[in-house]
Amino acid sequence: MDMMRIRNLGIIAHIDAGKTTVSERFLFYSGKEHRIGEVDEGTATMDWMKEEQERGITITSAATSFRWRDCLINLIDTPGHVDFTAEVERSLRVLDGAIGVFDGVEGVEAQSETVWRQADKYRIPRLAFINKMDRIGADFWRSVRSIERKLHPGALVLQIPAGQEKEFVGAIDLMLMKLIRHDGASLGSQYTFEEIPASETSRAVEARARLVERIAETSEELMGLWLEDPALIDEGRLRSALRSAVLAGRFVPVLLGAALRNKGIQRLLDAVCDYLPSPRDVPVAKGVDAKGGKQVEIACNPDGPVVGLVFKTASDAHGDLTYIRMYSGRLRSGDALFNPRRNKTERVGDLYRMHANEREALSEGKAGDIVAIVGLKHAVTGDTLCRKGDAVLLEGMEFPNTVLSVAIEPKASGDRDRLVEILGRLEKEDPTFRVHLNQETGELVMSGMGELHLEVVRNRLRDEFKLFVNVGAPRVSYRQAVASMAVGVGRFEQKMEKRGLFAEVRLRVEQAPEQAGVEVRYDASPQEIPRAFEQAVREGVRGAAEGGADLGFPIIQSRVIVEGGKFHPTESNEVAFQAAAQMAFSEAVATGGLVILEPLMALEVRVPVAYVGEVIGDLNVRRARIDETDMESQGATVIRGSVPLAEMMGYSTRLRSLTQGRGGFSMEPRNYQAVPPEVQDRLSFA
Ligand code: GDP
Repeated sequence: MDMMRIRNLGIIAHIDAGKTTVSERFLFYSGKEHRIGEVDEGTATMDWMKEEQERGITITSAATSFRWRDCLINLIDTPGHVDFTAEVERSLRVLDGAIGVFDGVEGVEAQSETVWRQADKYRIPRLAFINKMDRIGADFWRSVRSIERKLHPGALVLQIPAGQEKEFVGAIDLMLMKLIRHDGASLGSQYTFEEIPASETSRAVEARARLVERIAETSEELMGLWLEDPALIDEGRLRSALRSAVLAGRFVPVLLGAALRNKGIQRLLDAVCDYLPSPRDVPVAKGVDAKGGKQVEIACNPDGPVVGLVFKTASDAHGDLTYIRMYSGRLRSGDALFNPRRNKTERVGDLYRMHANEREALSEGKAGDIVAIVGLKHAVTGDTLCRKGDAVLLEGMEFPNTVLSVAIEPKASGDRDRLVEILGRLEKEDPTFRVHLNQETGELVMSGMGELHLEVVRNRLRDEFKLFVNVGAPRVSYRQAVASMAVGVGRFEQKMEKRGLFAEVRLRVEQAPEQAGVEVRYDASPQEIPRAFEQAVREGVRGAAEGGADLGFPIIQSRVIVEGGKFHPTESNEVAFQAAAQMAFSEAVATGGLVILEPLMALEVRVPVAYVGEVIGDLNVRRARIDETDMESQGATVIRGSVPLAEMMGYSTRLRSLTQGRGGFSMEPRNYQAVPPEVQDRLSFA
């Protein structure tokens, strides 16, 4: 496969906008060729779709591949729900282009906006598909304006609708200046290009003129032609100028259709091939040399050194699958792969490309492509795989701290070992899920990103593994930070008969709100602490910070500067320095004090306008800060702001009763804030 013809594609959509329906159609139409013979009034194909739906797995698998025209499209699953930011981030890391699917009635909705912003961060070129043009209330131009206003000023209309709502016929394609009519009996797989109906001609001509002008503005050559006569700009020129502009992030081409009615899908796939980037068209991957820590760039080259990124691990009936995006080199079954982060070498088992209804064994996986490997035991999401000789680490994925935990135990005590094993597996799959065994109490605790997240785990245990569990009350995961600058000196001394132990460390602690964890800066001169002990000092500080002096909450957003110390030529060793560092740290935080931090959540509540007052009133009691309330179509109001997680336990039940079941909300960790003193007494830090 020529790399230029690969499209690593994701779909960004608000829940219910039609992501699943669109994906299904992608698979259906692309698998069409070898099924055309069987199509009998659409029944065979209908069955195929139903079966796909029932199995459901293929659509939600981490990556599904299919062919369209001369392109290989790897469709990467991008979750729509913002409760799972980590899932979104990791799929955005490995895709090169995306389609935003919007509901033609609702336009841009809150969740798609959030994910769109994340995609902005990665500079991912995008298309927009306005779906559900057949729905009552569908309005193409209003949807386009909401994209322009909320997402990207460069929304570029490539199609306009012929009819809307019940009268929706199909799209008028402005590139071809034709109406596309899909045939109902073949479930839309047959379609014809027809003359634009007279009633729409003037609108189409006007929209086409605008389109050509805007594309012409991106290139001097085209602008010259345009000034002479716009008709001089041929299809090929338009397409290639548009492609460059989309890759540069200047335009978001807008297409339309109704996936459920089988309309508009094929031209959308054409646009994916025509305008979205191949792995060669995106900026080179960045990483560091695993030995020296030097910055390196990894060009997408099949003949370069092997570099791949694990973006998902999943278990299915055939065993554990590791999904890898290849950035450089080639991978074959039997190859030894080095994982620098875990310092492990593993052998590649079988190599697959995952399709809708089968998996295809591959002889090799090449730069730019996405493959699934069987046989890796250690690699987890975010790990780099490469060759030992030229080991690199790709930029890691950052996952937020877990913010909520619950104790968990099996209903049947005999299930405990299985529970531990399965939770361990889930932990490997999901980097924002943690399991911890309290050594003292024997209690098993799982932590995640919110109540919903942990509920999903519980449901999976029940549905997939037939494991029934009891869980305790949810507990917020508090943190602490240094309150003010302070110094500490730790002296570790042990007199023994033959040879004693001695070390002294002097350090300073201070606030560092920009740090995710604890930054350790090592400024001690080798005259005071020999180089050989630097690592031990760092480990001592880190251990103490993680253990979280005082209340036991891990310390974050703080800095420790190791200033100096003392050593003894024969009585100093690593253990002594580690202990001295710990003591110095404890003394410093005891002097400077610690503040308790609580997780603050970004919150989005969507309610019918009649309930806004009450919902906001209730949020105020929960110490929420409301940033904006936004009226959307059909009387829905979106309330956005932030709120401490501790105040949001059981909120879904509360919201349901406040709004007679008509409100919805989503939350994700944003950052931490100091717990106000008047609240501290009220919260339980158990
Ligand atoms: P997802 O949550 O984004 O995956 O959305 P789904 O694909 O599950 O679609 C949500 C609902 O919208 C389903 O009931 C679909 O049948 C419906 N739907 C999807 N596409 C269309 C469309 O083009 N027109 C209409 N009227 N409904 C659609």
